[in-house]
Amino acid sequence: MKKFDVAIAGGGVIGGAISLELARAGLRVALFDRQIPGQEASWASAGILSPAPETAGMIPLVPIGKTSMALYPEFVAEVEGISEEKTGYRPKGTIQALFSRDARAELSTVIALHHGVGLKAEPLRTEEARKLEPALSEEMEAAILRPDEGCIDNRALMSAVLVAARKSGVEIFAASEVKSIWREGSRCAGLVVGEEKIAAQWTVIAAGCFSASIEGVGGYAPVQPAKGQIMALRGGGLKIERVLWSENIYLVPRNDGRIIAGATVENIGFDRKLTAGGMQKNLEGAIELAPGLANAQIEETWAGLRPDTPDHLPILGPTDVEGLLIATGHFRSGIVLTPITARLIREWITLQKVSVDWDRFSPLRFAQATRNASN
Ligand SMILES: Cc1cc2nc3c(=O)[nH]c(=O)nc-3n(C[C@H](O)[C@H](O)[C@H](O)COP(=O)(O)OP(=O)(O)OC[C@H]3O[C@@H](n4cnc5c(N)ncnc54)[C@H](O)[C@@H]3O)c2cc1C
Repeated sequence: MKKFDVAIAGGGVIGGAISLELARAGLRVALFDRQIPGQEASWASAGILSPAPETAGMIPLVPIGKTSMALYPEFVAEVEGISEEKTGYRPKGTIQALFSRDARAELSTVIALHHGVGLKAEPLRTEEARKLEPALSEEMEAAILRPDEGCIDNRALMSAVLVAARKSGVEIFAASEVKSIWREGSRCAGLVVGEEKIAAQWTVIAAGCFSASIEGVGGYAPVQPAKGQIMALRGGGLKIERVLWSENIYLVPRNDGRIIAGATVENIGFDRKLTAGGMQKNLEGAIELAPGLANAQIEETWAGLRPDTPDHLPILGPTDVEGLLIATGHFRSGIVLTPITARLIREWITLQKVSVDWDRFSPLRFAQATRNASN
C-alpha cells in the first residue's frame, strides 16, 4: 500500500498549490487527478486578481482576498523560480468604466464601497483613463482606477505550479479518480483511488465543483458548478495593459496579445455547451467597452465550471473527521485566493493553527445544516 503524509484529491490550481506548499515544508505529498491535472476551472478562468466583493454576500472574503493579494508577488517568484516557467503576472491595476446616465453618482457609490472595506479605488477623468488605455470607448461616462489589482495568465500559472510541485517532490498521479475518503472510525485514513487504498496522515479534498461526488465528502462540501462562457480575441489593432471592467464584461490582457472577454455565470449543472446567447452577451459587452474589438478575430471560445457553494463562500479547513480537510468552493475567486489557501492548509497541517481567521469558511457550517435537516 502506498503511504504519504498528505493525499490530495484534485490537481487544479488549489490542489496543486497546496501540494507545492506542503512539499516545500518537507512533507511527502501525493496529488491525484481523475484526468490530466489542471484542465478544469483553473484552465478555463480569466485570471483576474481582485479582492473586491461582487456582491454584499461576498464581503467576508475581502480580508483573505487582501492577504492573498499581498502574498502574490512572493508566490509567483517561488513558482516561477522553481518551475523556470513564466506566469504572465501583471500587477498593473484595473480600470472600471461606467456607462450609465447617472455614472457620476455611481462612481461615488463604487468608490465609497471600496473604501468601506479597505480597498483602494480612485476616480479617473475619462480622458486620463483613455490615455492609460486608448482602447476604452469614448462613450464612457466615468472611470475608476483600482491600483492594487491585476491579472495572471491562469493557464501558464497552472502549468508552472504543477512543474514546481513535481520538482519539489510531489508525486502527481493523473487518470486516478478518487472514489471516496477512506474512513476508519472517526478518522480519515486516506483516499480510495480507483480500487486502491492510499494511506495518508492528512487528506485534503480540492476537487473543485466535483468535490461532492467523492463519497464521504458531500456533507462538508456541497459544491455546485456555475458555468462560465468566455472567449479570446486578438487583433483589431488593439492593445490593453490592464484589466478593463464594465457592468457587462471584463477584458483581460495576455502577454501574447490575446484579450480574454467574459464571462457568463449560469447555474445549469454540469453543462459546458457554448450558446449563441452567451457568446452574444460577451461580444456585445466587449465591443461596448472597447469598440475597436469589433475588428478583432475570435481566436478561441470555451466554457468552464466554477466551484460554487450555497453561500458563495469558499469551504476551507478541518472537518470533524480527524485528518480530513476541505479546500474548495472558491467560486469566482479561486485564482485570487490560491496563495492564501495553500498557506492556510499548510499552517493547519504543520502547526494545527492558522495565521488568519478562517472560521467563517469552515466545512462544518454545511455538515451542521445537513444534520439539522435530517433530525
Ligand atoms: C469562466 C471562468 C472565469 C473565471 N475567472 C476568474 C478570475 O478572473 N479570477 C479568479 O480568481 N477566479 C476565476 N474563476 C474561478 C477559478 O477559476 C476557480 O475558482 C478555481 O480555478 C478553482 O480551482 P480548483 O483547483 O478548486 O478547481 P479545478 O480547477 O476545477 O480543479 C479541480 C480538479 O479536480 C479534479 N477532480 C475532480 N473530481 C475528481 C476526483 N473524483 N478524483 C480526482 N480528481 C478529481 C479535476 O479533474 C480538476 O483537475 C473563473 C472560473 C471560470 C470557469
